[in-house]
Amino acid sequence: MGDWMVVPVRIELLTTGTELLLGTTRDTHGAWVGQRLLGLGLRIARQVTVPDGQAVGKAMRTGLEEGEVLIVTGGLGPTSDDLTRESLAEVLGLEMIEDKATLRTIEEFFASRRRVMAEANRKQALVPVGADILANPNGTAPGLYLAPGLSGRCNCAVFLLPGPPRELYPMFEAEVVPRLRALSGIEEGPDCVELKFVGIGESDFHQGVDEQLESIGGLEHGYCARPGEVDLRLIGTPDVVKEGRLVAETAFAHELVSDDGASLEEVVVRLLTGQGMTVAVAESCTGGLIASRITDVSGSSEVFRYGFVTYANEAKCDLIGVDREDLLEHGAVSEPVACQMAEGALRVGKADMAVAVTGIAGPTGGSEGKPVGTVFLGLAVRGGETRVVKQFHPWGRDVFKRQVSQSALNLVRQALVG
Ligand code: AMP
Ligand code: MG
Repeated sequence: MGDWMVVPVRIELLTTGTELLLGTTRDTHGAWVGQRLLGLGLRIARQVTVPDGQAVGKAMRTGLEEGEVLIVTGGLGPTSDDLTRESLAEVLGLEMIEDKATLRTIEEFFASRRRVMAEANRKQALVPVGADILANPNGTAPGLYLAPGLSGRCNCAVFLLPGPPRELYPMFEAEVVPRLRALSGIEEGPDCVELKFVGIGESDFHQGVDEQLESIGGLEHGYCARPGEVDLRLIGTPDVVKEGRLVAETAFAHELVSDDGASLEEVVVRLLTGQGMTVAVAESCTGGLIASRITDVSGSSEVFRYGFVTYANEAKCDLIGVDREDLLEHGAVSEPVACQMAEGALRVGKADMAVAVTGIAGPTGGSEGKPVGTVFLGLAVRGGETRVVKQFHPWGRDVFKRQVSQSALNLVRQALVG
């Protein structure tokens, strides 16, 4: 592992809010802060989530004892369950005073919005003696920073930050990042790239590539596998990241989709846009998922022509001209039908290329010759020959649909990159 891996400060993250534990709000701060710290060469040593109220003080005590930096999010609001500020002062035995400048800022915040400040908001101007006040241009609650050793009870630096992401993120950038840099003495974080591969699984990396990556001194690598996709994360100095990248790219040149976190559908839309091409899709077993994924991408209206969800046999014949006799003879899940669906979508959708899928998602509907998980994918390109591939994804309905949409988008991508 590289030198930067010797984590210089132990950072504890405490996210507070009953809603996070009820499941009504997804806790996204851990992921966001973790990513942001990684770029600085730092990481979260532990994250703890507690409900509002008394639990906050208790969790703070542990964080202060064991951490060198404690970051607390949430509970800085004006309501009675927002007790973060008070809990910290109590745990550290610090007196709270009303900060005049902060009170004025809060009053101005309301005045500029033509609202009357509630009495409850007054407590947001209370600060432990000696704390730095972190400006919050996007809300009423200022953040607070307590330098290590401020209280005499512990040697841990503490950040109290607001819960709403639109308040937290800018404050983190402006106020937390510079202080963490100073505390840790790190000027530059490691390089970090994420390479997205489609059409291979994690196990493909164990055919030698993983060993090669392992042997690069100072390189940290890790995988994140999803249906039909695997992300490879490389972290280290620019040189070792470059070396690791070369190993992975050489082994899986055709499967590499992006190196900037872009999703497969984003890459497909990018490629289509760049080449001035349009696409249509004809979907049976994915029920519109492929069209949905393409249209998730902003700018897709320039390249996406048509999505046919031809689930029933008649729809395949009536809408995109699949031959009735072929359908009866070979079945809906067959090579000729996939081929005709793609060609029909191309023709009727007036697109430059079209992809079609027809398969058996299960759990019922399989047969000996065509078990559940069987799928045929067709790709038709204007002026070119139509290709059909057969695949097998017997992993349950949801994963099947995701996998098939993945393969279909990847067929389009591969056709575009040549
Ligand atoms: P606060 O009043 O500071 O506790 O912040 C409350 C608001 O921030 C609510 O809208 C929460 O859903 C949101 N929030 C608080 N913590 C988190 C978190 N860890 N992840 C995502 N949203 C959060
Ligand atoms: Mg709250």
